[in-house]
Amino acid sequence: MSDLYAVIGNPIGHTKSPLIHTAFAEQTGQPIHYTAIEGSLGGFAGAVDAFRAAGGRGLNITAPFKLDAFAYATDLTAAAQVAGAVNAMKFDGDRVLADNFDGVGLVRDIIHNLACPIAGRCVLLLGAGGAARGALPPILAEKPSHVVIVNRTFAKARQLAEAFAHTGPVDAEAYSALRDQPFDIILNATSASQCGEFLPVHGDIFAPDCLAYELVYGKGLTPFLKMARDNGVRRLVDGVGMLVEQAAEAFVWWRGVRPDTRPVIEKLTVPLLEA
Ligand code: NDP
Repeated sequence: MSDLYAVIGNPIGHTKSPLIHTAFAEQTGQPIHYTAIEGSLGGFAGAVDAFRAAGGRGLNITAPFKLDAFAYATDLTAAAQVAGAVNAMKFDGDRVLADNFDGVGLVRDIIHNLACPIAGRCVLLLGAGGAARGALPPILAEKPSHVVIVNRTFAKARQLAEAFAHTGPVDAEAYSALRDQPFDIILNATSASQCGEFLPVHGDIFAPDCLAYELVYGKGLTPFLKMARDNGVRRLVDGVGMLVEQAAEAFVWWRGVRPDTRPVIEKLTVPLLEA
């Protein structure tokens, strides 16, 4: 008898989570069955109640339900509280344990898979939404020389920087102030690339050996990555590694076994071709 897990989102047709977790289960011999649930907008709690009643053991949560999951949880980890959003839950009787593995997944991808240390490097974080909030604490824990956050709504960048200034060297700046300061690692944690939009940044933000990391995945050469390439950056990556690494963290949390992420990342990697 398999244990039941799922991902819930809306829309959900694009999700790679069943493929990822099924590959992890086969690799580790864990008896799990993993499906995808399209929750109706406004119907998150009802869908999760039904899943639990059917014996569901845990869920991944994707857009637009990460805040609903935060509200639904009874026990939030520090990472979930910091992100203000939940992307994984497990059920234990009446308790709903909730975590957010996006940030730790991103940092694992950068350090382990891409062999790019964060320690001592200058990091630019574009965006101040849920993904950026989740990413900031594990990035600061790696002891970068400096982190700068910029966001379209500047107040959100400032608020985020202020909330973590006691844990490391982090500041907020406006897009317009980003001149003549090259960064070693630039993370696009905005959703601008989802709609093919360019960010108002100058080409001089890219240091010669810069890692340009687009959190959106599977979209080929996004406007951000195109801009990085056109300014001489050779290390261009999208968020497929982050996606698989956050899934692996949830798998470990649920099952107590760490899967090998490399073959799954290779399987899901889409070449960064011109869109
Ligand atoms: P949120 O909706 O919480 O935040 C969106 C962010 O993007 C905000 O900072 C917003 O700025 C900014 N933004 C949106 N449109 C524009 C624009 N046209 N120009 C400039 N800034 C813009 O989303 P998330 O933080 O949850 O996700 C961000 C991206 O990261 C998404 O594209 C998502 O797909 C990706 N992601 C990838 C993951 C992976 O596993 N690879 C995991 C999680 C997220 P403002 O505050 O001003 O509105």
